[in-house]
Parts: sequence; C-alpha cells; structure tokens
Amino acid sequence: MSTAEANLQELMSKMTLEEKIALTIGKDFWSTNGVERLGIAPIALNDGPHGVRKPAASTEIGIGSSFAATCFPTANTLACSWDTALVEEVGEALGEECLALDVQVLLGPGVNIKRTPLGGRCFEYYSEDPVLAGELGSAFVNGVQSKGIGTSLKHYACNNQEFERMSISVEIDQRTLREIYLTAFERVVRKARPWTVMCAYNKVNGVYASEHPQLLRDILKNEWGFEGVLVSDWGAVNEKEKALEAGLDLQMPGYTGDHTAKMAQLVKDGQLSESAINEAATRVLRMMLQGRENRQPGFVFDPQVHHALARRATAESIVLLKNTAHLLPLQLDQLHSVAIIGRFAKEPRYQGSGSSQVVPTEIDSSYDELQGWLGDKVHTTYADGYNDEGPLDEALLHEAVELAKTSDLALIFAGLPGAYESEGYDRKHLFMPESHNRLIAEICQVQPNTIVILHNGGAVALPWVDGPKAILEAGLGGQAVGGAIVDILSGKVNPSGKLAETFPVRLEDTPAYINYPGETNKVYYGERLFVGYRYYDKKEIKPLFPFGYGLSYTTFEYTNLRINKTELNAGETLDVAVTIRNAGTRAGKEVIQLYVQSLASQFIRPDKELKAFAKVELEADQSKDVHMTLEERDFQIYDDERQAWHTEGGEYNILIGSSSESIVLREPVTVHEGPRSMTSQFNRISPIKQFLQYPKTHELLANTFAETPRAALFQGDDEMFTSMPIAKMIVLGVLTDEQVNTLIEQANQTSIF
Ligand code: BGC
Repeated sequence: MSTAEANLQELMSKMTLEEKIALTIGKDFWSTNGVERLGIAPIALNDGPHGVRKPAASTEIGIGSSFAATCFPTANTLACSWDTALVEEVGEALGEECLALDVQVLLGPGVNIKRTPLGGRCFEYYSEDPVLAGELGSAFVNGVQSKGIGTSLKHYACNNQEFERMSISVEIDQRTLREIYLTAFERVVRKARPWTVMCAYNKVNGVYASEHPQLLRDILKNEWGFEGVLVSDWGAVNEKEKALEAGLDLQMPGYTGDHTAKMAQLVKDGQLSESAINEAATRVLRMMLQGRENRQPGFVFDPQVHHALARRATAESIVLLKNTAHLLPLQLDQLHSVAIIGRFAKEPRYQGSGSSQVVPTEIDSSYDELQGWLGDKVHTTYADGYNDEGPLDEALLHEAVELAKTSDLALIFAGLPGAYESEGYDRKHLFMPESHNRLIAEICQVQPNTIVILHNGGAVALPWVDGPKAILEAGLGGQAVGGAIVDILSGKVNPSGKLAETFPVRLEDTPAYINYPGETNKVYYGERLFVGYRYYDKKEIKPLFPFGYGLSYTTFEYTNLRINKTELNAGETLDVAVTIRNAGTRAGKEVIQLYVQSLASQFIRPDKELKAFAKVELEADQSKDVHMTLEERDFQIYDDERQAWHTEGGEYNILIGSSSESIVLREPVTVHEGPRSMTSQFNRISPIKQFLQYPKTHELLANTFAETPRAALFQGDDEMFTSMPIAKMIVLGVLTDEQVNTLIEQANQTSIF
C-alpha cells in the first residue's frame, strides 16, 4: 500500500459516521466539505469545460460574474480540429488556469452525443460520433490532468437534449446505449482516467441517472474499473440513499439542512448501508487529498500565451464549407474595398449560455482584426445589417445591401443569436433568424464576391447556400475568434477543420426528427444506432454538408492503403497505413478518416462507422505515411441477448475517406467470429434457424429429426420452416415435448467452438 493510501485509510478510520456522511455532499456551490478536526481541507470544483468559471465566492452561482479566464473555443468548434494533440494542449492551458485560480477539479469535458442539432447544449459537446467524442474527450482529460488538476466527464449518460432534462426518461435499448451513447464515456474512462464522472439529470429507462445501479455501479465502476469520484450534476440527486447505494459518491452542490442527520438515521435504521457511505467518503477523500497536494499557491499563467493558443485552436477548427473559384484566401493586392457586414463582426458570438459561460480575459472582434490586417491598403466600410436578437429591420438591411453593392467584396458575419443556444432549453428549429438569412440572400443578389462567416454552436439550415462564393463555419470560436477568422481569410492559416457533425438540409431529414422531443416525459431513441452520418448513409439522404467534411486551400491525394493482415482473429489488432500527398502548392493539414464497414451481418448495422482518424501536416508536394491501429472492439457489436461485446465473423472493408461521403480507398479483411457464450441461448421459442446456425447444434437438430418419420415434411431451408420456434414442432406433431426439451437442454450444454 502506498503512503498516500495508508494515510487515507488512517484518516478514514478516525472519522465518525457523520463526518464521513458530510464528505458525500458539497459544502456550498463549488467546494466539498472538509473535516476540520482532522486537518482535512476542502477542495474546489468549478466549471468548465472551455474555460474556468470561478465566482469570487463559493456561495455564488456566479454566471457572468466569475474571475476572468481564457475563453477557448467551445467543444463543438474545437472538435472540428480533429486534433487530439491540440485538444490536449488546450487542456494543459486550462489546467494551468485552474492552478492559478486555486481550482482542483474542472467540470468538463462533455462527451454526450449530438442526437439532434436542436439540443441546447450541442455547443458543449464534441460530436455525433462516439469515437471522435471519446478521443477528443480523452485528450482533454489528459491535458488538464497532466497539471495535477482533476476533470469531470459529463453528463453520464444520455443527456442529448435539454427539453425536460431534469425529469425526462430516455427510453433506449442496450445495444444502442452501449454502441452509441456510452462508448465515448467508456473510452475516456479507460484511456484517460478522469478524476470524476458527473451523472446526468435525466432518467435512463425510467431510473434517474444519479440513482442508476446499472449505469453507475455495474458498468462504470465494476465493468470499466472507474476508481474516481462519481459526482452528481448540480441538483441531480433526488433520493440520496438510492443514489449512494447505486454508486454515487458526491452530491453537489451542498445545502444547509438536515442532510447529515437524515443519512445517519437511515444508516441506523438499516435503510442505508454503511458500506455505501464508506465507499463514497473514501473516494471523495482520496480526491481531496490529491487535489490539496497538487495545489501550487502563487501559480501564474501568461494570459497572452493562452490567448494566442485560443486563436490557434480556433483557426485549426474553422471549417471551410465552400470556396468557389478559389476566392479564399483573399489576395490583398487585388482588393480595393471591403464591406464588413453584420453585428457579429463587432460583437462576435464566441460561446454559449449557461453554466459554461466564461468571463474572458479579452475579446478579439473580427472587425478590429480585419482593420489591423487590411490597414490603409484597403478601404473598409461597415454596416450592422441586423439587430441583436430582434426581428428583421428593413432599414439596417437596406443600408447593408447598398454598402455591399459598391464594394469589391462583402464579408457577412451571421449565425445564431445568443438566446438561441443555451443550457436548459433546446432550439426550436434549424434556422438562423430571418434577419440574417434575408441579409445574406439579398447581398448575394448584388455582390458576386460574398463570403459568409458563421457563428453558431450547432448545425443550421443554410437556405441561401448557393449564393455566397465562400462560407466559413467559425462555430463558437472563443475569445480569440476574430484573429482566427482573419488568419483563415488571409491565408496565414490554411483551413483544416472538418465538421464533427452533419449539416442536414432540413430538420425533417434529421435522425431523431420523429422521436424528438418525446411525450409524457419520455423520449424514445427509436432511430437506435442511426445517429448522424449513420442515419444519412443508411437512408441515402444527402445532407447539406456531411460529417467529416471541410475544404483546404490545397488538395490531398490518398494512395497505397495497406493492412498488415487479411484475416483477423479474436483479440488481434489490425495495422492500417495509407500514404497522403499534398498535391497543391501550399502547406496544409488533412484529417484522414478510417471507417469500418461490415459487408454482411445478422445484426442491423450502420453502413460504416468511424473507428480511427489522424491529422497530418504536409508541405506542398510532401508525402507521408499515416498509421492507424484497429482493435477488436472496432469490429464488435454489443450483443443484447448475451449482454456482451461480440466479434461477428465475416467480411469487412477498411475504408479511408476525407469525409464520411468521400471514401477514397478500401481494402477487404476477413474477421473470424469471436467466442460466444451459449448460456441459456436456446429455449422453446428459439427459431429453428438458430439451431442450424452452428455445426454442433445443427447436428443435434438433425439427429432429433432423424428420430421421427414426419420430420421430413418439415425439413429444408425455406424461411417459413426455419423461422418457426422449435416448440411449434410439438403442436404440428413432428416432435414430442420430451424431444424438444432434450434438444434444448443439449444445445445449451454445447459450446459452439
Ligand atoms: C450543468 C453542469 C455544470 C453544473 C455546475 C449544471 O447545471 O449541467 O454541466 O457543471 O451545473 O455549474
């Protein structure tokens, strides 16, 4: 046992039941309880995720009134970088700011899946894809925790909408839960070991996430081996004793009242086990001791360095959606006048609302940054174009159109107003305000060189998409967004961002459309695994811009896809290599996407699924080999019947793409079936085809039929016969009750391998 662990055990042994209970609840909004008698001091847990939000007093919620901190791009934006090293670097900077602000645990990252673009917190989440979200989430955790600061992986699980978030029950099957909604959490927990995991407000299949024994204890703690602190979302606990028994460790925030006395009484009455309290208190105390030990009083960070990092991170994340006739990057020597249009140019939207709202150290507007870049060389004009959040203003519209008409070029800054995107409620539709849409449409009528720059935390409909020559998706780019945009417009940075979520043409095309937002406090995840590109692929619906899509100022060639084996056995890994060449004249970065495609399956499977990716930087004409490794899990499905991951044997394709829609190389691989437990697999309603599936049970069935003369009538491989439950053979007079029972018994004792 380490000294730290021995110290922890000793402290635990000295504590009263009441002191231990106090450790399982916060002291106030942002700190834990300490145990003064034993010299145990509290620690602070603060939001996150894209900046530190520490209010002056721990008793204040403090939204909008916290200490200044660097506001990095929000998760939806940073995700478009597809750059784990960059996300880790941002994490490190966040860790440093926590050290400076004396925060021990940063509440992030959020790795929930973007099931619908309407989700109010889409801006706080990375992606519609669990592998991308899991990899980026792991990088974030590694970065922050490398500074000795804890993280909180949230919101576990299925917080995919804000509508009725504190009460709605997500009705979901186990396979979908595992393959889509838990995968990112599992990756982060296993790969990066976050100090804490934060449970969600909502229910999952009728049980609050904060009281869910299967999610908390069985899966998170037992199966994935999570050793940290399971903290509730703020106010997510409903019945504390149920939560503790289910595996929750820390209730946040704290409240004054009879909590300790009530819990102690429950223990005394035998309604709450002391072991649950001990487990929770031990975990919380371990985190507190670690947090206190890692403090660095007097730590300072350089806000300018972090601001520069925020700018680089955003520039790496901006997605070039359209660039007709290579209008971008702008050629300064060919420009005389530029009309800068849209209030967002002067007052950028750079983050979303709610608990993640950071008070930035400074803000770069695109307007100021453009002035700095264009200087005296180019004449610039400016028009608001629209009101803050308000309805269409004809006068503002008219003024902007007239300005655009008389310039060489129009740069329109538009998107979603702040009130559209927030924690706590969802968006009502996919549209930007009419005032923004009309502005773009009308300017495109009079100005052929129009560039639209979007500020938004999630996918939006672009009814005017054919109008502008170029479109930049700048997301919610944090406090340095203006500079980052100018870096892209000027060509100082070659765009390399790729969409981490599909942009649909219309809301009606989106996967959850029919089932969202639910009714009578339940939302059925009826589209199952078919979230994001998995849905558009399967339904052959062409989105506006696909998942993984983004242009560059250069072009890339993909050749020479290689795999290190053509057959894969259970437990083996597959090495994949591909050569990428920068075929243009300018240095750039490309995101290489690896999808796995199952060619034939007894399960309903998506057409293809992202399993690995890499970002590579190439000088003009340079080539590089990119290596990726696939693990057994990358070919597996979650077998609901056996409640286990299973490798389905068969033919697969390894696909390499520059987006989910643009697959450029493919290579087949044969995967051998993994072992499967047969326990209780066969029963009276098992269809005959199930017995025919495996050689040994096939033989048992044949032997049983051989004993009865009427069987000949019912043998064959036509589906009418093979889909009959075995027990039907009794009522049809083919087999006796006893024969069926013996067959089932023998089949269940047989191992298929
Ligand atoms: C949010 C969490 C946040 C917490 C503390 C909750 O309302 O859902 O993400 O960390 O508040 O502010």
